[in-house]
Amino acid sequence: MAKVLVLGAGLTGLATAALLARDGHAVTVVERDPAPAPPPGQAWDGWPRQGVNQFRLAHFMLPRWWSLVRAELPGVTEALLAAGALRCNLLALLPERRRGPIRPADDRFETVTARRPLLEAVLSRAAESAGVTISRGVAVTGLATDGHGAVPRVIGVLTAAGPPIHADLVVDCGGRRSALPAWLVAAGARPPVEEREPCGFVYYGRHFHGELPEMHTNVLQAYDSLSVLTLPGDNGTWSVVLVTHGRDKAMRALRDPACWHQVLARYPLAAHWADGAPITGVDVMAGIEDRHRRLAVAGTPVATGVVTVGDAWACTNPSLGRGASIGLLHALLLRDTLREIDPAEHDKLASRFDELTARAMEPLHQATVWLDRHRLAELEADLAGEPYRPDDGRWAASKALFAASLHDPELTRAYSALASFIAGPDEVFAEPGVRERVGRLSAGAPPYPLPGPSRAELLSTLDQAGAAGWPG
Ligand SMILES: Cc1cc2nc3c(=O)[nH]c(=O)nc-3n(C[C@H](O)[C@H](O)[C@H](O)COP(=O)(O)OP(=O)(O)OC[C@H]3O[C@@H](n4cnc5c(N)ncnc54)[C@H](O)[C@@H]3O)c2cc1C
Repeated sequence: MAKVLVLGAGLTGLATAALLARDGHAVTVVERDPAPAPPPGQAWDGWPRQGVNQFRLAHFMLPRWWSLVRAELPGVTEALLAAGALRCNLLALLPERRRGPIRPADDRFETVTARRPLLEAVLSRAAESAGVTISRGVAVTGLATDGHGAVPRVIGVLTAAGPPIHADLVVDCGGRRSALPAWLVAAGARPPVEEREPCGFVYYGRHFHGELPEMHTNVLQAYDSLSVLTLPGDNGTWSVVLVTHGRDKAMRALRDPACWHQVLARYPLAAHWADGAPITGVDVMAGIEDRHRRLAVAGTPVATGVVTVGDAWACTNPSLGRGASIGLLHALLLRDTLREIDPAEHDKLASRFDELTARAMEPLHQATVWLDRHRLAELEADLAGEPYRPDDGRWAASKALFAASLHDPELTRAYSALASFIAGPDEVFAEPGVRERVGRLSAGAPPYPLPGPSRAELLSTLDQAGAAGWPG
């Protein structure tokens, strides 16, 4: 069994480490942030985690994530529930008049979710129970290589303080801001292939505490000029996020809590989600980019002995809530690859993991970026006061499915399967009758079928909120 070093103790790093340790590998995680994981109940208030910008921002774990956790990380569900995580069924949460009676197969919409600090604290304990050593306060500054050949073999990492740490395999789980490309180039490797573009959304989120509000519609709701996310959490908490286009200057007033509340009050299916005690201000996150990285150029690895997993590999706009699920799927792919190939066969492992990642993971990443791009362009069209009619039938089909799902329990399930990340559009539309029913039930639907203000009404609310005292 191999000596594996996982760089980064975020959601994917911890899950990767636990999975590999359960397979018998000797796993060490190095994490730059020094604070140890507190007991889960103290994680929200008392855990400094500067290494993860989104640490205290809204997170929701999708049914896909939970089904993988339940199957592959025994004990984590129980630990999450003991810490107050919420077990819920995304379909059952919807009003019965929309979804009809619950059926046995609807258990696929179940999930267990919590605020991010609690999730991480539980995963940290799970990794340690699986035999992982977590060294916090260790900042990786570069790669140790064997110094031979055009394709360097990574044999460990350099750290800010202390000697290099050697390993048979280095797994970069350093997140969105992973510095791996610069380290590879410094080690003499060719730069990895990278694609990045600013994703352009701005998130205005607030957490609450109280009695969990009823879910009148889906978690993610698209309206003219903004989206609303209503996300249940652990221990009687939840979060609400308003998502806008970064170029929509009028929406910047949403950073003011009074303005944020007045705007949320305009959405009849979501307004009651403000009926709780706020436990944060309005947290704003912008400047998030979509980025994808490949450690092989034209099929040849730029280095061996190192792989990237999770956000360090690819990350997207988070409003679909897929990051943790994609990270966990990727971690499982690495685990399975290591069941086939010993890290001592470092050339073979690098090529094979790159190939499998391209085959199994890239379609998931591309599908997420595709949705982001369309929604961003749609918000831009709203800003310009124009209809959004791209020459892409799949986008029209996805809008039509949502509109039709408001009137048909089967299609509510089809749409919920997409939102839960347990099925893709091809599978959903291949079901007998789906295409026909979507066409029929969405005919004449407006671009935004959920009740909410028009852009003009939204701007007027923002104006009134500003006149009532917001300084900007
Ligand atoms: C605003 C926002 C909301 C989101 N909401 C959701 C959601 O609802 N559902 C969902 O599934 N996903 C969500 N995501 C995505 C999710 O947060 C990420 O996919 C997930 O955190 C990725 O885990 P990771 O382990 O790959 O990276 P991270 O969690 O970012 O962890 C990286 C770790 O590496 C450490 N590190 C970095 N560099 C070094 C170094 N040089 N030396 C040592 N340590 C280092 C960092 O300190 C950090 O702890 C959201 C993201 C954002 C930005």
